[in-house]
Amino acid sequence: MSASDIGGTFDRLWSELLPIGRTSAGGYRRFAWTDADLYARQWFLAAAAARGLDVRTDRNGNLWAWWLPVGWSGEPREAFVTGSHLDSVPDGGAFDGPLGVISALCAVDSLRDRGVQPLRPVAVVVFADEEGARFGVACAGSRLLSGALTPDAERALRDVDGVSLDEAMRRAGVDTAHLGRDDAMLRRVGVFVELHIEQGQALVDLDASLGIGTGIWPHGRWRFSFEGEANHAGTTRITERRDPMLPFAAAAIAARILATKEGGVATFGRVHVEPNGTNAIPSSVTAWLDARGPDQAVVDAIVTGVSANAHARAVAEGVQLAVAAESVSGAVEFSNAASARLHRVLDPVAGVGSVHPVGRVPDLGTGAGHDAGVLSSVLPTAMLFVRNPSGVSHSPAEFADRADCLVGIEALAAVMADWVGTAPVEAS
Ligand SMILES: [Zn+2]
Repeated sequence: MSASDIGGTFDRLWSELLPIGRTSAGGYRRFAWTDADLYARQWFLAAAAARGLDVRTDRNGNLWAWWLPVGWSGEPREAFVTGSHLDSVPDGGAFDGPLGVISALCAVDSLRDRGVQPLRPVAVVVFADEEGARFGVACAGSRLLSGALTPDAERALRDVDGVSLDEAMRRAGVDTAHLGRDDAMLRRVGVFVELHIEQGQALVDLDASLGIGTGIWPHGRWRFSFEGEANHAGTTRITERRDPMLPFAAAAIAARILATKEGGVATFGRVHVEPNGTNAIPSSVTAWLDARGPDQAVVDAIVTGVSANAHARAVAEGVQLAVAAESVSGAVEFSNAASARLHRVLDPVAGVGSVHPVGRVPDLGTGAGHDAGVLSSVLPTAMLFVRNPSGVSHSPAEFADRADCLVGIEALAAVMADWVGTAPVEAS
């Protein structure tokens, strides 16, 4: 192959996907199982079909495009699986998710251009509902697959309009009678390598195009439901108010103070106010705390402290408060063996200067959750991060240079070739 061929393929795939779900402000609204998400999934089906890949939707709505070795019969096993997600956060950027999917397709093309005949299966995967922007649980597709999200818990999830995740999936043609941990699918996978845009600026500081993921901070979402009493903003005396906005405000301030004190991060980024009128004291405020830290003790201290502050202020205001945990994830360490293999393949490439000038691809921890993190409990997983000069993520400002994207594809192709280019271990 030549790099320019893959560059052309990258440009083409990118320009096809770019308009889907983009708002006039330039951000993305590809919420899981909405029309925009379904169009993006259709795009993937077409791109896979154009490559002659055999696409299957698994029991949990995730898409798998298989490239099987010539003469392979029976179920895939020891597969090299790579990919990411196509859904987005509200007004998200273009790269978070799609870069991993497009890079995976380009890596397949790259191997084929070079005449590589895989001895083990390859799959390009699109995990459903990674961001959790619509139903509140991040990585729903991979959590269902791994059993971390049970079908009963899945059936309880609703979006703000009251549509259940189950209903949304059924509308999209997924038979939800068979949701849940899928051991038959998991047995096919030898390793899952997710390429993702970096969601910070560590690689900029290191002057490196690419990093290898070491792990993911423990993190989670907690729903704070404040119940007060709606009333007139002009005629209700201050002493007679039960205003849920005040304990919410106390919680938001506490989140900043405690995160700073404990060395983690904490954010209230989503709030629902009822009735949401300028001249009305709210009846209820529902807000979601996102808390993360380098270890579990930090996250626990933040959440406990924010809850205590919110409760104290709620009592003072005559407001009821309920705090519920949603999609909580413990610390993740990626497979040492898989990461070591990535280093073994990619560090020599670094030696020639195309990835990293000092001869070793840098290791990178992250505060962001990923399907590779969820699946690390049931599969060997690894991650590659591509430099993001803006350091900004979950925003239209998220960006990667084309040259770095092509380095990422080259690296992913090298790792893929390493995995599938050796004789498979015979089943005993
Ligand atoms: Zn992502």
